[in-house]
Amino acid sequence: MRYAIVGLGLIGGSLAWDLTQAGHEVWGVSRSGETCRQAVQRGIVQQADPNLDQVFPQSWDGVIVATPIAATLPTIAHLATGLQPGTPLTDVASVKGSLVETATRLWPSFVGGHPMAGTADHGLAAAQLGLFREAVYVVTPLPETDREALARVEELIRTVGAEVVHCHPVDHDQAVAAISHVPVWISAALIAAAAEQGSLARRLASSGFRDTSRVGGGNPELGVGMAQANRAAILAHLTVYRRHLTQIQDWILAEDWSSLQDYLQATQIQRPQFRGIQ
Ligand code: NAP
Repeated sequence: MRYAIVGLGLIGGSLAWDLTQAGHEVWGVSRSGETCRQAVQRGIVQQADPNLDQVFPQSWDGVIVATPIAATLPTIAHLATGLQPGTPLTDVASVKGSLVETATRLWPSFVGGHPMAGTADHGLAAAQLGLFREAVYVVTPLPETDREALARVEELIRTVGAEVVHCHPVDHDQAVAAISHVPVWISAALIAAAAEQGSLARRLASSGFRDTSRVGGGNPELGVGMAQANRAAILAHLTVYRRHLTQIQDWILAEDWSSLQDYLQATQIQRPQFRGIQ
């Protein structure tokens, strides 16, 4: 198979590396010439170039857009002006809502995708082999999505060892607001609030703080991109979260220890019901 990947960062670089290792021909496009040079030198792709138009004269079994969220639609719009008709085109953006509708209008062989895997790092240097192994990889086909393109994208996902999960773009955005996007802001607020405590809190922080602060200390561009692109679902879920915090505050104020005990008993049962938690 021949794949082109646009945006050789954490996700694009990791996908490219897995596909190359699986014996496929992989070309890359990335904003920086140095990233392109590094990607070829490290054997992540066979060829790379900062010029997006380099993919136009070729035929591809799949083209993957793995740029930051804000650049995803403009990149798809440009690709739609020159790709060979029927080329399966997919993205990896963490927000799907209106992006999938617009991209499908621009390119009928577009399939929205979102791998549920990542790290706190970014850029090509953060790319990892096997990042998607046993991870969930969401696809968000619409009724009008080209079924042949969908089958090709699902094949690509299975090649990198991930499990395909189908859902509607709107359901996707509400679910990821709860388990991925809002936790970034809760974790960031935790860091900022703890920093107000001063140097002693910094000195005493241990594994509990390390775990709860991890996602708030990640890539700022990604966090802001999520807030811009998934604004409505994030605001709705922050309201739900605020209701829970207020409830906890009220119970502590009222010294209602038994309600707090019941609450933590329920969360102890609920936590392992989420995937990826042992
Ligand atoms: P990233 O590490 O910052 O990689 C994106 C790379 O794209 C940049 O390093 C940049 O590389 C390149 N780039 C930027 N603008 C470009 C453009 N206009 N054209 C071509 N290349 C461009 O970010 P990422 O974490 O891989 O995220 C990429 C996408 O994956 C986002 O849509 C994000 O929502 C999604 N995603 C992220 C995660 C995660 O945990 N990080 C998980 C799932 C999905 P150079 O400047 O070095 O060339």
